[in-house]
Amino acid sequence: MGKLIVMSGPSGAGKGTVVQELLKIYQENSKKVHLSISATTRLKREGETPSVSYYFLDEATFLEKIKQGEFLEYNKYGTGKYYGTLKSHVFKYLNEGYDVILEIDINGYKQVLKNYPNAVGIFVAPPSLEILEQRLRARGTETEENIKKRLKTAEVEMANKDIYPHIVINEDGKSYEAALEVFDIINN
Ligand code: 5GP
Repeated sequence: MGKLIVMSGPSGAGKGTVVQELLKIYQENSKKVHLSISATTRLKREGETPSVSYYFLDEATFLEKIKQGEFLEYNKYGTGKYYGTLKSHVFKYLNEGYDVILEIDINGYKQVLKNYPNAVGIFVAPPSLEILEQRLRARGTETEENIKKRLKTAEVEMANKDIYPHIVINEDGKSYEAALEVFDIINN
């Protein structure tokens, strides 16, 4: 049985980059890892591939799966979009001995802990909220309204980060170092 790893952190904290580095470190150490693919009702962005980046579902399908208890956790964000982790997807890999990484938010983490108390929670934090804002703007993919929403969410998440047993700060240009820190936490 693999370990279930929950990685959270505000949008713009560089969590995605840290996770990509972490996957490489797993490979270099010949350890089995799987990055869970979430389901979402948000629109596909340029460069994303369905069933690889996310399972893109329409809202009716997503709501039906909630009703059927098919999610390990799910959340509806300020953008009005749903995101969730399918139980079937995660347990297939855990049972095959893979460590499974979930990239989810703090509400999702709380839900996972209820269902699966052995999950390892790791919060990837930006050096500061100011730097987070700069990173979000530098992306150039979000509307001003969405940036404001994400910053508000980030403030709340940063205020609650202490519920995670592990907090890793992702300094500018240091995502490999952050990923190594995460790998050591998981494999102590
Ligand atoms: P994005 O739209 O930028 O891909 O993701 C927006 C937010 O959704 C991110 O903070 C990300 O961590 C979160 N998210 C992605 N997948 C899931 C999921 O399966 N469950 C939950 N609760 N949040 C998710």
